[in-house]
Amino acid sequence: MHSDHPLIRPSLSSSQGYDTLIVGAGFAGSVMAERLASEAGQRVLLVDKRPHIGGNAYDCHDDAGVLIHPYGPHIFHTNSAEVFEYLSRFTAWRPYQHRVLASVDGQLLPMPINLDTVNRLYGLGLTSFELESFFDRVAEKVDPVRTSEDVVVSRVGRDLYNKFFRGYTRKQWGLDPSELDASVTARVPTRTNRDDRYFTDTFQAMPRHGYTRMFEKMLAHPRIHVMLNTDYREIVEWVPWKHMVYTGPIDAFFGHRHGKLPYRSLAFEHVNLPVATHQPVGTINHPNEHGYTRVTEFKHLTGQVHESTSLVYEYPRAEGEPFYPVPQPANAELFKRYEEEAERLAHVTFVGRLANYRYYNMDQVVAQALVTFKRLDLTAIQVAA
Ligand code: FAD
Ligand code: UDP
Repeated sequence: MHSDHPLIRPSLSSSQGYDTLIVGAGFAGSVMAERLASEAGQRVLLVDKRPHIGGNAYDCHDDAGVLIHPYGPHIFHTNSAEVFEYLSRFTAWRPYQHRVLASVDGQLLPMPINLDTVNRLYGLGLTSFELESFFDRVAEKVDPVRTSEDVVVSRVGRDLYNKFFRGYTRKQWGLDPSELDASVTARVPTRTNRDDRYFTDTFQAMPRHGYTRMFEKMLAHPRIHVMLNTDYREIVEWVPWKHMVYTGPIDAFFGHRHGKLPYRSLAFEHVNLPVATHQPVGTINHPNEHGYTRVTEFKHLTGQVHESTSLVYEYPRAEGEPFYPVPQPANAELFKRYEEEAERLAHVTFVGRLANYRYYNMDQVVAQALVTFKRLDLTAIQVAA
């Protein structure tokens, strides 16, 4: 993996001051940096403790020369024209519609569950109309729908829930779906037609030259300085700054003083195989067997032509880098305590998935950063400084 890139600058002398110190060079931090430098004319220092920009969306070539996503597969999709147009300033796109098959009862079946999934699983020949009645028959009445179990059993019944959702969710989260908020499994729809795309958003495309190239363009502004391999705590006291944008885990910012917020982690196993193609679609889910949840073959996503192919296996973990907030009522309560403290800090703005403890997709983080920038009272920040 290549960790060096052209944005690394020599370390700064303490005489240089910044308007904004941004912690984290993922989508949240990079969009804020770009907006503050090019729209507000600010001098920005963007620090990340990792050796690269892009946060979890970072991509690079592996030893075989295949473009991979070291932190797991990232597929861009959005219904927001504003987000898509904004990012289009920094990248061209390659149209891509993601498809997922689930390995269930010895077959590879479309996920989200659709007409073909049910017909092939049960050996039926239902029409879309008949499938609607089928779901009505097998669905369990749940009122109110509160948990991730409720969402699925109230739509497709217990058997499909057990085969497609229960095992996957228990593996991914280390929790039973009945212990997780409804919003988690509600991310995956159910269809009565034959649409086998994972997402149905208006805009579905991958950055033509990868995410990292897009981030490089976003940050290639003379008023943005990027400092990698740097935990902000190492420099926060000696680099002069007026305003901070923080995009790391919110509980870490406050020294975990109200207790640790749980984040779910993953271990990634990356492999390269000496064949052009390994699997028929971008991702294969394994709800009921293996320690991993899913296997993604990057060339489907990127369109790269290469004699070999690279895949990633995702193994859920309780410990490790914080990748997912865990949507549960108790965690929302704990987050609220941190959020209240965050709101009292006029000099620090909290943006992004970890800082807001929300299960955001990339486009939602971009949208949040754009709105946050528009709402910032830049004059107040200058005065407060
Ligand atoms: P991050 O990308 O996490 O960036 C935060 C940065 O802050 C990190 O680089 C971190 O190193 C840095 N940082 C933290 N603490 C410090 C510190 N003390 N000092 C310095 N730096 C610090 N979204 C989609 O839209 N489509 C997908 O297909 C998709 N797939 C995903 C797959 C996986 C496995 C995961 C985990 C997420 C996926 N996402 C996907 C979500 C996507 O990754 C996030 O929405 C997005 O990357 C969040 O951006 P962010 O800037 O908020 O956070
Ligand atoms: N899920 C599942 N079976 C699947 C796919 C998803 O049970 O085949 C559940 C699981 O709880 C997962 C959630 O739906 O965590 C959201 O899935 P998504 O693909 O959006 O997860 P992400 O890409 O964010 O990891």
